[in-house]
Amino acid sequence: MSLRPAAASDLLIDGKLIPGSGGTFDVINPATEEVIGQAADATAADMDAAITAARVAFDTTDWSRDHAFRASCLRQLRDALLAHADEFKALATEEIGAPSFLTGGPQFQGPAEDLGYFADLAESYEWTRDLGVAKPMGLKNQRELRYEAAGVVGAITPWNFPHQINFAKIGPALAAGCTVVLKPAPDTPWAAALVGKVIAEETDFPAGVINIVTSSDHGVGAQLSSDPRVDIVSFTGSTATGKKIMAAAADSLKKVFLELGGKSAFIVLDDADLAGACAMAAFSVVTHAGQGCAITTRLVVPREKLAEAITATRDAMAGLPADDPAKPGTICGPLISAAQRDRVESYIAIAKEEGGTVEIGGGRPADKDKGFFVEPTLISGLDNSARAAQEEIFGPVLVIIAHDGDDDAIAIANDSPYGLSGMVYGTDEDRINKVVNGVRTGTMGVNGGIWYSADVPFGGYKQSGIGREMGVAGFEEYLESKAVARPA
Ligand code: NAD
Repeated sequence: MSLRPAAASDLLIDGKLIPGSGGTFDVINPATEEVIGQAADATAADMDAAITAARVAFDTTDWSRDHAFRASCLRQLRDALLAHADEFKALATEEIGAPSFLTGGPQFQGPAEDLGYFADLAESYEWTRDLGVAKPMGLKNQRELRYEAAGVVGAITPWNFPHQINFAKIGPALAAGCTVVLKPAPDTPWAAALVGKVIAEETDFPAGVINIVTSSDHGVGAQLSSDPRVDIVSFTGSTATGKKIMAAAADSLKKVFLELGGKSAFIVLDDADLAGACAMAAFSVVTHAGQGCAITTRLVVPREKLAEAITATRDAMAGLPADDPAKPGTICGPLISAAQRDRVESYIAIAKEEGGTVEIGGGRPADKDKGFFVEPTLISGLDNSARAAQEEIFGPVLVIIAHDGDDDAIAIANDSPYGLSGMVYGTDEDRINKVVNGVRTGTMGVNGGIWYSADVPFGGYKQSGIGREMGVAGFEEYLESKAVARPA
């Protein structure tokens, strides 16, 4: 079976692959600006049908109670996806602009394999826990805690790592026994829609358990946050949209689970390998053109080593040009769209207006007349209060900031509305630990350490979000607990 749709990709609603009532919209290759095909354009009526299907499947089938069946469906999905891995990876490069070195990792292969982790959790989770006997109000009672699926999940996802984020939502939600309506970003509809095709044609998921609704209209996603039949909205995207979703969810008091933006700091202590740290910071910010919420975008270095750090980072960036994502060795591909490129370029202009110096990059690559590319860019001469240091740019743009010692570095890292991730480079364990403990973020790497894995909860402090994705904590986001007591 070829995944690439002959006409347009379909919606998956109530177990059937169907066209969107709104016709189709274009899927664009961000490296070439070519239209590579079409996706089904869902309307409000299609979303309504998807929510109905998910509600009925949750309320009237045994899906939420049959842990072994859910595990087997998820393993079937993992295996079917991996059987199509070459095609999914090639399409991820075309649709997302993902460099091929990432499609073998977090842009497809890793997250597809991780569905097995959630299948295992469905079977191994301690669904019932004995709380023993107690004497509330003097009466002896035997108590237990039962964990149950929370209901219908509306999953709304962005375009930057669509497979990773789609699977990190549908994997644990389905493993927990929820039913799901997935609404992917308009820029990357195929990454989700083609998973829907695999589900419909190659797995035993019952009708309505998983529904996939692509649309060019953000309002179709907004339905998930306001519809009272949806129990949880699981959202990844910008902080601005997260706030709208939380407000829209208030009326039906549904649970919101939010993975939002970041402006993470890469702290270099004065006893660190400066050149190694700067090379890693450059690599990190150009990876997938900086379109990662957990990417470190502020490089915070000892003031007395600032000049040396600028040179080392600039040299490292010079070896990581923006290029064709299909070309082996490319680290920095294109931005997803013209709008995103305009946004990144506007932030470079703002940084210059605020007194920043562009040390390298700052524009479009001279050798490319097509594609939404921006050169890897290093900006110096700003302090942490500058807009380029405070606001999420979501491009290959690194701001280098001087610190005056470990405490100052921690303060700079924390002087941000966000709290998603971070990195510290140093040699003294006590000093490293002080930084790790002092920085208020959901994840921290030490000397290049990589925390990303299926069993590691990921999420943010402050305006980077609410809740955790992946790991047992990510699975438990989709559960409710029920306390049961009887006289003993
Ligand atoms: P976005 O917020 O514009 O859109 C994300 C999704 O929300 C899309 O599917 C979109 O259609 C939908 N949407 C838009 N308006 C909506 C509304 N009012 N109600 C419901 N749904 C709505 O974000 P984006 O531009 O697609 O992605 C980039 C942003 O996502 C960046 O800010 C980035 O930091 C963030 N992000 C965060 C994480 C994380 O895990 N913390 C991961 C990836 C991306």
